[in-house]
Amino acid sequence: MTSMLEAYAAVTGSDVIRHLQQLAESLQGKKVVHVNSTRVGGGVAEILEKLIPLSRELGIDTRWEVITGDSEFYQCTKSMHNAIQGNRIAIPDKLLSHFLDVNQQNADHLRSVLEEADFVFIHDPQPAALLKYCSNRKGKWIWRCHIDASHPYRGTWRFLERFVREYDASIFSLSQFVQLLPHPAYIIPPSIDPLSDKNVDLTQDELDAVRARFNLDPDAPMIVQISRFDRFKDPVGVIKAYKLAKHYIPKLQLVLAGGSATDDPEGEVVFNEVSQAAGDDPDIKILQLPPDAHRTINALQRLADIVLQKSTKEGFGLTVTEALWKGKPVIAGDTGGIRLQVINFHTGFLVNTPEGAALRIRYLFNQKQKAQEMGLKSVEFVRENFLLTRQLREYLTLMVSLQHGAADRIELG
Ligand code: UDP
Repeated sequence: MTSMLEAYAAVTGSDVIRHLQQLAESLQGKKVVHVNSTRVGGGVAEILEKLIPLSRELGIDTRWEVITGDSEFYQCTKSMHNAIQGNRIAIPDKLLSHFLDVNQQNADHLRSVLEEADFVFIHDPQPAALLKYCSNRKGKWIWRCHIDASHPYRGTWRFLERFVREYDASIFSLSQFVQLLPHPAYIIPPSIDPLSDKNVDLTQDELDAVRARFNLDPDAPMIVQISRFDRFKDPVGVIKAYKLAKHYIPKLQLVLAGGSATDDPEGEVVFNEVSQAAGDDPDIKILQLPPDAHRTINALQRLADIVLQKSTKEGFGLTVTEALWKGKPVIAGDTGGIRLQVINFHTGFLVNTPEGAALRIRYLFNQKQKAQEMGLKSVEFVRENFLLTRQLREYLTLMVSLQHGAADRIELG
């Protein structure tokens, strides 16, 4: 076993790694390409950052390509993202035709890599039309949808579906997100990497340094939400919940930390809305962090007494997984993939309103023992269900099954 695989075995147990090796055996020599629209920022980049090296370590020739576009393209894809998550947004034809042009330009650039690959994973709507421009493709193409597609705005879904239906399979994070398509749909929730800077253990010195850097009071209770500045993450709702909870927990501090993804043009507007909602309360810290602030985010999650993720729509919510892995009870929006992770009274609380969130914040500060027990459960829950090794196992299984088509029986080495 290589040292990287050994490091994972130390967290997951060696059986998990042996299982991956067994699945990877029948994929040796295969070329796999993942394509998304940003190298940094957001959950998809976070996952690919680690999934690619781990796949390579298992002997699979895996690469990661990122499409590029201009601001008009990202404006279109952000509207598409919002529409697939249910907002009634009719995207003008001119923007949709620009979306196709940008996909075609990227296909021109990536064509040889994509057409030669045995498996191509296209992440989310942004690069979904690449397939249309790779007519000599040799391999299987999989559309990996990371967002909540349970109730898409129909006009936008119809547009996207024209491309997605040509894929060999699609992957959704939750069964409720699956759309009717003429190919198999797989349910594979995302995962976190326990060995990344975002999730490794940190020393007390490093935690103290982050606390000092942001002028946080070590003696005051603290709640944290880490998110891109995006309305679906409801940062303004978090501020409302904090203000209500503060009546009962007078020294309470709130940290709202986020950055922006290069494919998200709305961040600045939402950041301004959040600053306005916070007013001049010195106990609210709104932090705009650079995209590589992984250890800082790790520290903020560890310094928190409770982590919030008050999303109103959420494909999965890696920030929830990250917090649970650090033994924190999580109070989070009762929506999408968060429901897979937050189990009321076990790993945290699901809420629908700022009032509900404030009530649960108060409960957890009053029930310290219960909060601690929930934290212990959370770590094991993530170990069992949401580590990178589980997600990779499911991707490998999917590739093996697509490779064998309709075979009745698949023999692994
Ligand atoms: N994240 C980050 N910096 C930020 C905000 C978020 O590194 O300023 C990370 C966060 O820790 C998580 C990912 O980006 O790993 C966000 O994934 P999630 O599924 O929670 O939401 P998405 O942004 O994909 O909607």
